Amino acid sequence: MLQFLVVSPHTEEDCSKVVKLTLAIGYLTHFHWGCKVGDHTAYAIIEAENEQEALLSIPTVVRNKAKAIKVIQYDPKDVQGW
Ligand SMILES: [Zn+2]
Repeated sequence: MLQFLVVSPHTEEDCSKVVKLTLAIGYLTHFHWGCKVGDHTAYAIIEAENEQEALLSIPTVVRNKAKAIKVIQYDPKDVQGW
């Protein structure tokens, strides 16, 4: 399974609606939210087969503003000698 960093911004006006919709689709606790410091964006690492599948974690009302970036982790031994 691939991992994607999902970044999903929303407006302050839409904040409570987006949080409730994320709860409704079962992804509330997958995300970390910047809302309390004025960064109305949800961040999560989502396991999925592809970018489109990863974006299913985002409510449809804001999905067009979200992005899913395929990310990897480097093993320390792989980095030696770079
Ligand atoms: Zn918010």
